[in-house]
Amino acid sequence: MAKKVYIETVGCQMNVLDSELVIGALRRDGYEIAAEAADADLVLFNTCSVREHAEEKVYSALGRVIPLKRKRPETIVGVLGCMAQKDQELIRKRAPHVDLVIGTGQLARVSELAARARETRQPQYALSLGRAEAGRHEVEASFVSFDPIRDASMRPTPFQAFVRVQIGCDKFCTYCVVPSTRGPEQSRPPEHILAEVRQLVQQGCKEVTLIGQTVNSYEFERGDGRRTRLSDLLSQMHDVAGLERIKFVTNFPKDMTDDLLDAVRDLPKVMKYLHVPAQSGCDDVLKRMKRLYSVAEYREMLDRCRQRVPGVAISSDFIVGFCGESEASFAKTIDLVRDAKFKNSFIFKYSERPGTKASEKFTDDIPDEVKKRRNNDLLAVQNANSMADHRAQIGKTVEVLVEGPSKRALASGNSNGIVQFTGRAMTDHIVVFDGAERLAGRTVEVHIDDASAFTLYGRVVTTGFANEPVAVRLGDADEAPAYPAPLDHAPPREEKRIGLPLA
Ligand code: SAM
Ligand code: SF4
Repeated sequence: MAKKVYIETVGCQMNVLDSELVIGALRRDGYEIAAEAADADLVLFNTCSVREHAEEKVYSALGRVIPLKRKRPETIVGVLGCMAQKDQELIRKRAPHVDLVIGTGQLARVSELAARARETRQPQYALSLGRAEAGRHEVEASFVSFDPIRDASMRPTPFQAFVRVQIGCDKFCTYCVVPSTRGPEQSRPPEHILAEVRQLVQQGCKEVTLIGQTVNSYEFERGDGRRTRLSDLLSQMHDVAGLERIKFVTNFPKDMTDDLLDAVRDLPKVMKYLHVPAQSGCDDVLKRMKRLYSVAEYREMLDRCRQRVPGVAISSDFIVGFCGESEASFAKTIDLVRDAKFKNSFIFKYSERPGTKASEKFTDDIPDEVKKRRNNDLLAVQNANSMADHRAQIGKTVEVLVEGPSKRALASGNSNGIVQFTGRAMTDHIVVFDGAERLAGRTVEVHIDDASAFTLYGRVVTTGFANEPVAVRLGDADEAPAYPAPLDHAPPREEKRIGLPLA
C-alpha cells in the first residue's frame, strides 16, 4: 500500500513553495497525500523562525502528534525549514519524538531520509553549514536550491505559481534570522528560471510570482562577466508565450534601480505593484536595524517609483517596538505611513530572535502592551490610507485575473451557475465580483463600483465567457483582513498555518 504524507506549513511564500515542491517530490516517489496527520505515515512540519510566535505554534503542533506517535511508533515525524536549520539541538530536546530535522538547504533529501529513519529507527538530520562554520563557497554549496519538476496539482490554483529566483540573504538586518536560516544570497541561473516558467506555462500557469528575500538584488554573473539583472530576467520572461502576468516580491529599498522600474513600466505583463518594506520611519531605529538607508532615502525611492511607474501600487512592512524605539521615534513611523500612501502595510511587533545581532547588542526594552498599542495605532493610520487608496479605484475598469470562488462563496456552497469570485487587479488590489462558474483562471475586465479598505467590489464588463454582465454590490461580502490576505500570493508571510492537501 502506498505511504501517505501529511504536511503543515507555517511562514512565508518561500515556505509555501518549499512545501509544494517537497510534496510533489514525495508523490513522484509513490506517496499519497493524507488529509489528517492521523492517517499519515509521514507527518511533516515546514517551519518559520522569523518571530517567536511562529516557533511556538510548531512546538504545540509537535505536542499534538505525541499521542499519534505513541499509538503508531512507525509514523515518521519531520521538522523542515528554518527552525530545523536554526534549532536542531533544541528540537531534539523539546520534541524528542521527532525523527527528521531537515534544513532549508537540504529539502531534496526528505524522501531518502524518511526511508532511512523508517529502516534504522534512528533520527536523521540534514543541515547546511552555519555562516561561521566555513568559507562562503562551502556554506553556499551546503544550501542547495530545491527546484524539482513542478506538478500543477500541488498548487491551490493551476494557473498561479511561485518561482524562486534567489535563495538566502546577505543584508543581515540586526533583528532577522533569515541570513542564518536560509544562508548566503545566491541567484539562480536565468536559463533555469526560464525553463521552469516555460514548463509552468505548459501546465496552464498564467501568473508567476518571482520570489527572493531581496528579489530586486537578483543578479546572475557568468564566468565571462556577463550579468543578468532582475530587469533583464523580466524582459526575457516577458517573451514566454502564454504567460500573462509576472509579479515579484520582496524588494529591498536600496536596490530599487531605475532599470527595474523602467521594466515594470514598459513590460505590460509585469504587475504595477511593488512591495518595499520600510520597517521604520525613524533614522536612529533604521540604523540600529542596519537597514542601510535613511528615511529621506526611502521617501526619495518612493517618489522615484511613482514618477517612473505612473499608477504603481506600493506596499510595505513595519516592525513596531524595536529596541529603543521611543514615542518620538514611533511618531516618525506614523508620519511616514501617513505620507507614503501605501496600498497596504504588514505590521509586526518586534520579536527578539536569539542569535541575531539585535539580541546580542540591544535590549528588547519595549513592553508588550506598548508594542500592541503602537501596532494598533499604526494600523489605524494605514487603514485610513488603504480606504482612501481603494475608494480612489471606484469608477475605474480594471483587468482581473480570476483566482477562484471567494471565501463567502466557498462557505455558502450554493452556486446556481453564478459564483462570487475573487481575483487581483494588475496593481495587486483584491477584487470581488459575481460571474459565471467557468471564469476561474480567466482574465476579465471588472468595473469597480465600491470599495472597503481591503477589497474592491465590481461587476464584469467584458466577459466573453458569461453572457450577461452581472452587476452586484456584495455588501460586506468578502473583506480580506489586512494580514494575511486570503490564499495569498501577495505580500508575505507570517505565521499563517496551512494544512495540505493541496491536490
Ligand atoms: N526579505 C524580506 C524583507 O526584507 O522585507 C522579508 C523578510 S521577513 C521574513 C518578513 C518581514 O518580517 C520583514 O519585512 C519584517 O517586517 C518582519 N520581521 C523580520 N524579523 C522580525 C522580528 N524579529 N520581529 C518582528 N518582525 C520581524
Ligand atoms: Fe531579513 Fe529581509 Fe533584512 Fe534579509 S533583507 S535580513 S530577509 S529583513
